Amino acid sequence: MYMLAVGLGNLAFAVLMVAYLRATSATPGLRVWMWARMVFGATQLLAWVRPATGLPLLAIVESAGWIAGLTLEAAAYALFFGYPQLRRYLVPVAALGLLLACAASLHGLPHRELVVYVSLTMGFGSFTTGAILMHPRLAGATALQRLIGATDMGCGAVLAIWALIAVTGRAVPGYGETMAYVAGYLLLIVNGFGFILMSKQRDDARMERLATTDDLTGLLNRRAFFARADAARLLSLRQRQPIALLMLDIDHFKQLNDRFGHATGDEALVKFAATCAEALREHDILGRLGGEEFALALPGTDLPGALHAAERLRQGVADTRLLTCGNHYTMTVSIGLVVIDPNEDLPAALARADHALYEAKRNGRNRIETGAAERRQA
Ligand code: GH3
Ligand code: MG
Ligand code: MG
Repeated sequence: MYMLAVGLGNLAFAVLMVAYLRATSATPGLRVWMWARMVFGATQLLAWVRPATGLPLLAIVESAGWIAGLTLEAAAYALFFGYPQLRRYLVPVAALGLLLACAASLHGLPHRELVVYVSLTMGFGSFTTGAILMHPRLAGATALQRLIGATDMGCGAVLAIWALIAVTGRAVPGYGETMAYVAGYLLLIVNGFGFILMSKQRDDARMERLATTDDLTGLLNRRAFFARADAARLLSLRQRQPIALLMLDIDHFKQLNDRFGHATGDEALVKFAATCAEALREHDILGRLGGEEFALALPGTDLPGALHAAERLRQGVADTRLLTCGNHYTMTVSIGLVVIDPNEDLPAALARADHALYEAKRNGRNRIETGAAERRQA
């Protein structure tokens, strides 16, 4: 009965995933994961009917099913975490497992012992997977990932301990048997949902990155800059901290494009972005508003501090060499700078910074101008 329940559970997961994957581009590993569920489901159903049939050949098929399912599951994890080369080791290990299982089946291994050996392998496998998922060094380990890892470790340990006791031939108390079944069932639920949720979490993060990042420079795009800068402005207001806002525009950029071509222009934009990002602190907010115009918000920075930072940027850009067609080309930037007034909103402050930028251009470029104080309405 138990095998029927988990088998149908796995097949239900697989069918849902088939329908899901028809319309969605899969996260790496998800398709392999679906096949693992499919194979496990079919194998568990086979394990449910096999004792009644008494056919020895089916024992080999069942062993092959368990091993194929485990291999596919391991491959899905390897793909998901970006270690596709691990697949190379999985195939020989699986082949060896299959060989041993076939030999054991041909020697007339009783059904119960097969279940015990499978549980032992599953238990160790789940425990190891859990330990890997919990590993603090694994990039971007989320709370979800750690929760799945903890469950895998716990259930894997219960399963393995039960199987170890059974292997030694000692009698397993009734509650031990129940615990092993519950652990196996929990592994089905937590891993089934968990892998799908981890995939979704990764997809969401990727979409968020795509929606907020400028393709060329990797900086925040216009919309994301406005959102982050406005949040920083409100926080600074609440904490009674100053916040500076800068508009930056590369000088004579059209000339550079015309002389060396659009590709060189793009390279210059990337280099400009990297130079600025390098000179800034972690919580400074830099975005590309469009073309060769950039905006920068400096939370917790007053006028002298912002002038200092702006000068560092101006100098850094002027010192950067663009190696194009053997020519050492340099670029310069003009900067308009304001400290946001508590009474003005972000667009108003940006308009003032833009006006200061216009002044910097008018006064000869490659320089910084500060904006006039905000005109207060009576
Ligand atoms: P100024 O010193 O007054 O700022 O002069 P400028 O030539 O930099 O200013 P202008 O705004 O007239 O020219 C901007 C140029 O930037 C025009 C456009 O062809 C170029 N541009 C805009 N976006 C891109 C881009 O993504 N890549 C490249 N290569 N060029 C771009
Ligand atoms: Mg320009
Ligand atoms: Mg411009």
